[in-house]
Amino acid sequence: MSKKYEMTIDGETVSADEYTNIRNPANTEEIVGQAPVGNKTHLDKAIAAAEKAYASWRFSSDEDRVNACNAIAKVCSDNAEELAVLLTKEQGKPLGGLGSNFELGGCAGWAGYTATLALPDKVIEDSDERHVVQKRVPLGVVGSITPWNWPLMIAIWHIVPGIRSGNTVVIKPSPYTPLSTLRMVELMNEVLPAGLVNVISGGDELGAELTGHDGVNKIVFTGSIATGKKVMASAAKSVTPVTLELGGNDAGIMLQGEDPAKFAEGMFFGSMINSGQTCGAMKRLYVHEDDLNATVDALVGFAGNIPMGDGMDESSLLGPVQNERQFKRVVELVEDAKANGGTCVLGGEPAGGPNYFYPVTIVTGVSDGVRLVDEEQFGPVLPIITYTDLEDAISAANGLEFGLDASVWGSDAEATAAVAERLEAGTVLINKHGEIAPHIPFGGIKCSGLGVEFGEEGLAAYTSIKIINSAA
Ligand code: NAD
Repeated sequence: MSKKYEMTIDGETVSADEYTNIRNPANTEEIVGQAPVGNKTHLDKAIAAAEKAYASWRFSSDEDRVNACNAIAKVCSDNAEELAVLLTKEQGKPLGGLGSNFELGGCAGWAGYTATLALPDKVIEDSDERHVVQKRVPLGVVGSITPWNWPLMIAIWHIVPGIRSGNTVVIKPSPYTPLSTLRMVELMNEVLPAGLVNVISGGDELGAELTGHDGVNKIVFTGSIATGKKVMASAAKSVTPVTLELGGNDAGIMLQGEDPAKFAEGMFFGSMINSGQTCGAMKRLYVHEDDLNATVDALVGFAGNIPMGDGMDESSLLGPVQNERQFKRVVELVEDAKANGGTCVLGGEPAGGPNYFYPVTIVTGVSDGVRLVDEEQFGPVLPIITYTDLEDAISAANGLEFGLDASVWGSDAEATAAVAERLEAGTVLINKHGEIAPHIPFGGIKCSGLGVEFGEEGLAAYTSIKIINSAA
């Protein structure tokens, strides 16, 4: 019998009437554990607990808030081994490389850094006429909804700034990867006041109930563009503030005449990190037509050294696609590319078996208008598109609804900076892709998101401005 995981509400373990099996994507015959299927009653209880905790937490001292964030950081590092194994088993990512141990390190790092951020009062005017102070005050109960690709790190990105700024939280993880979040929040509750952070698990409909709940005062959502639009519509009903971190289809442009071997490692991991299941991964690469063969050789050569396999195997650096729906989508996009002139110069055929492994795949011969280029593939597949005129590559990079990250690769600093200026994205990287850090604001433009996370700007998104304006 596999282990049952439970929800945590008001500091208490809460069971459900129904449970669902969570399977290992590296071997779908293995059940990793059972997740509770929460319902509206659990949601109501969790919101009520968060509201009750907010009544005192909103007046907590700065020191208490810093201590709570540091306590979360310590929970992540003290329990890193257990949580990383659980994460690998339910998500598929390897323990090593840019996998589960790396993700747990990120959790502790982000929580610890966020503890150090502050939003002090600002004196806006101090004159003979008035004294005006701007304060940043908490919003109330934060409803957090997370995806399945980096479940723990994203949970920390939502929870920690929430409580750092005086709010309380109800989090609902993805139904594909709920176990590690249920366990992490259970562990947090051993050190935090009851009701500060509550976790409920369930399907998409529970997410919709959470975003439409009257008791939620702020929504932070990370997931697909399609769902993000629904979340925004739902929030509109009560004008609830939202932070939306949505999908990306990041373009990289390599300038003409560069030696791609120099960039192969950065390009490879910039696109294949977490087997491509990363919002800010490079998902299409534009190279000059004269540089295509050398780029293919460099990337295919580099890929040959990167083992993909069961994440519990120490040698694995890449894991499977996380779930069947996503696996089928990757297959569909590659098959569509093949039918539309694409050639897989690497990969393109999964080996089969009771798992969702899809090999690292590099596709040439496709251009804009083919689904693999125009849509977010979210898997270990990179299309390389050729250009003859750099202007066309810039227009193509900017031509879609996405605007998360973009990158430019080249050895002439002036030339790369000039292209970076023209790329339309929340973050533009030069000679790298997919780098994030807790002190650097991160967010998408266009359909890739609304608002930023990280840094002071990210923290401010969990507050509203309150002005105290006194007569002199
Ligand atoms: P998804 O939108 O299918 O699901 C995300 C979460 O939303 C899940 O918890 C799900 O249960 C919930 N949900 C589904 N329908 C809902 C509704 N109507 N109302 C409220 N919640 C609902 O996304 P996914 O497939 O889990 O994640 C992959 C996507 O997330 C990709 O597009 C990826 O680019 C994006 N993503 C973005 C970032 C970022 O920071 N920009 C980070 C990671 C992932």
